[in-house]
Amino acid sequence: MNPWFGKAAFIVSLMSMMLIRAPHGKRSGQVKIEESRKGRLEVTLLALMWITTLVLPVISIASPFLSFADYGLHVLPFLLGIVCAAMGLWLFYRSHADLGINWSISLEIRNGHQLVTRGVYQRIRHPMYMSILLLVLAQAFLLSNWIAGPLCLPVFLLMLVLRLGPEERMMLERFGNEYGAYVKRTKRLIPNHIFRQSGPNQ
Ligand code: SAH
Repeated sequence: MNPWFGKAAFIVSLMSMMLIRAPHGKRSGQVKIEESRKGRLEVTLLALMWITTLVLPVISIASPFLSFADYGLHVLPFLLGIVCAAMGLWLFYRSHADLGINWSISLEIRNGHQLVTRGVYQRIRHPMYMSILLLVLAQAFLLSNWIAGPLCLPVFLLMLVLRLGPEERMMLERFGNEYGAYVKRTKRLIPNHIFRQSGPNQ
């Protein structure tokens, strides 16, 4: 099928992400950072994320420079891309709404930081990373170019693997037993049961 269908869907998804994040980024940016664990590795990985999820897609959509890495777009990957983008955007929106001013692009504790365990944080500890994983998968399915499309997937997976441990350690040091108990009753990315179980609220 025409690769522009995939490109158009990707552009809509990217713009929606930016619109969802903008007000939250602005609001949490006004709250002072009390503690930052943003090391050189973290900065490098964030830069790689920007390059693979924004710079390279824009270059490949707006110019012919990356066309040597193009391949054909088929219906199934296109549909999978739409499904991943829709689920990812919903979770991206919900996790920003639930995390509120406690959000940071990096490993940071803000003034008056509160532990969020409600909403989409009730059964998984990293709904925002899960949403970004879905959105990165959508990009890989929708952009039929090896450099602008699937390349973002290994970059995000590397960032995820290197970030989860240190982030949870930071939260444990800050919130102690409260976070320890939260870790015990939740999963990192995928809930035990997709549908809510009846029973005592956790
Ligand atoms: N890992 C979470 C949050 C991503 S934003 C997710 O994927 O949804 C990263 C920042 O969120 C971290 O620097 C940390 O300060 C903060 N954070 C992570 N989990 C939190 C929680 N349950 N409650 C409050 N803040 C949290």
